[in-house]
Amino acid sequence: MADEFPFEISPMFEGERIRKDGMHVELGGPKSKGFELVRAAEMSEVEDNKFTLIGPDLSDMEEGSRYPLAMVYKIAGELVEADLESIVERRNHEFQNYIQGFMHLNQRDDVWMRVSKDAVAKGMTSFESVAKAIMMLFKNELPFIEAVEAIYITDEAEIDKEIDNARAVYKARDERTRDLHDEDVDTFYGCTLCASFAPTNVCVVTPDRISLCGAINWFDGRAAAKVDPEGPQFAIPKGDVIDAESGEYTGVNEAAKRLSSGEYDRIKLHSFFEYPHTSCGCFEVVGFYIPEVDGIGWVDRDFAGTAPNGLQFSTMAGQTGGGKQVVGFLGIGVNYFRSPKFIEADGGWDRVVWMPKMLKDKVLNDIPEEMRDMVATEEDAADVESLRNFLKEKNHPILERWVEEEEEAPEEEEAAESAPQAGFAPQMQMPTNFMPSMPMMSGGGSGGVKIVLKNAKVSIEKVIIKKQD
Ligand code: SF4
Repeated sequence: MADEFPFEISPMFEGERIRKDGMHVELGGPKSKGFELVRAAEMSEVEDNKFTLIGPDLSDMEEGSRYPLAMVYKIAGELVEADLESIVERRNHEFQNYIQGFMHLNQRDDVWMRVSKDAVAKGMTSFESVAKAIMMLFKNELPFIEAVEAIYITDEAEIDKEIDNARAVYKARDERTRDLHDEDVDTFYGCTLCASFAPTNVCVVTPDRISLCGAINWFDGRAAAKVDPEGPQFAIPKGDVIDAESGEYTGVNEAAKRLSSGEYDRIKLHSFFEYPHTSCGCFEVVGFYIPEVDGIGWVDRDFAGTAPNGLQFSTMAGQTGGGKQVVGFLGIGVNYFRSPKFIEADGGWDRVVWMPKMLKDKVLNDIPEEMRDMVATEEDAADVESLRNFLKEKNHPILERWVEEEEEAPEEEEAAESAPQAGFAPQMQMPTNFMPSMPMMSGGGSGGVKIVLKNAKVSIEKVIIKKQD
């Protein structure tokens, strides 16, 4: 395939990881900046296969360094419409990973790429070859694209000028679904782009649930399924409503069974604990249950610190991904915070107790006004104890659950009084089938208890802890 390129191109290179010591340069990512953007244009506005570079090329870049990179593609064709932009943009991620020695992670203005030393040694010394390979794949794989032009930007000042425009485009796309809800449509859309590394993943995109990668909304899924019904995005007939609050539908359950090859047969689209949506690995944010306060925290890729459960995003992401239903963790797209059905089955925002400040600021206007002060950030709570104090001080609605649970479980309460306290509160009920896959609960300290569960599935009806005489 494509002899003219100084690198191999094949789906078998998806999943190739370029570590720091094998890396020639890093592009974009958390310590630099960048974005990818596809725009639909008229045929007359696109010069097919043209490549423009603004800023230094790969050959000008110093080995071991980091540079910004923005990638803009203009696409045209009779069937090309603005709703297809996100779909093509997502394929940039997929196709760049087809290139041996080029790694692409994340999406939109979170893109993070690396070029390997081996690839440069073999001749990948210009972005032109990368962009031309992507344009070739766009036209081969997405026949509705009749003409495509690429502009890559590595000049930081130029990226600064363009990035706000890109963000405005992402925002406008996301806002389109605001007035459309799950109950207004008969069809949802599925996506299998992540199946190569998460084979049991069941990605369902609905008006009230953007994809977990954050790149595909319901309109995008619809447009893609229309132009290429056999492609990676396809219609999922909603079927009958089993439970509207948790978002369970017969059509989604049937699709789950088919797409996961029988691994899962139930998905509740708006549930955190029971039959949650699978998490592939592309999610923008991970939700994590904090049993000590019976609440849910959320952490995004940009947060480099440690969440109150003592874990970083990367550790939790590692536990959450792979296309599994992991009860106690959930991968979502940032825009799902804006959904009126956001984890509706579990209490919605009333169940949210912690988020990094930057993420909270990003979605602040979408948090119900009365809850804005009640969600702690790293500035308010760095560990479970300070989080518990913060929630008490703010009279967070989660406190009602503590009271309810204490009333419901007198034996446990009694037991809790006699058991060593430390960090974990035995009176709090774990959700049914909670499946910790890492050391989540520890109540150590002198004379305390330490429970370490790895990859365990635990079902407990009742626990009574008695003091030994
Ligand atoms: S996260 Fe879902 S929607 Fe996004 S690329 Fe992967 S499978 Fe597709």
